[in-house]
Amino acid sequence: MKECIFCKIAGGEIPAATIYEDEEFRVILDLGPASKGHALIIPKAHYANLYEMPDELAGKAMILAKKIITKMTEVLQCDGYNIVQNNGEAAGQTVFHFHMHLIPRRKEDNVGVTWTPGKLKEEDKQEILEKFSLC
Ligand code: AMP
Ligand code: ZN
Repeated sequence: MKECIFCKIAGGEIPAATIYEDEEFRVILDLGPASKGHALIIPKAHYANLYEMPDELAGKAMILAKKIITKMTEVLQCDGYNIVQNNGEAAGQTVFHFHMHLIPRRKEDNVGVTWTPGKLKEEDKQEILEKFSLC
């Protein structure tokens, strides 16, 4: 993917603040952080989103997330972590190369990764239980 910014960052062509790197992933600090320490796990190979990622690599990304947040919790002395991964424009994805957001949280930091809870509707529940069971 010649014009993909995360391919260029992951491949080292564009510099980024790298906190971890191995053969398959680069982990960098986000340039527009939601909080201090907000990092992105970026695979070196191009996959637009989670749907396209091979299962094995998707599994490795989650294992790596665990490793990074465990260490970062110690380093930053934060109180918790959000792992956010957007797929598709409708879900807020702006860079179409798979990435996982690792967002350190502190008590009462007002970082907005929440939503207003609705109420599970009976008809939605029935529809989804029926349709999903057919998959
Ligand atoms: P998303 O909206 O889930 O696609 O997230 C894209 C993220 O990439 C945003 O949080 C941006 O701040 C971040 N971002 C975009 N360009 C860069 C860059 N060159 N270096 C670091 N982070 C970036
Ligand atoms: Zn890419």
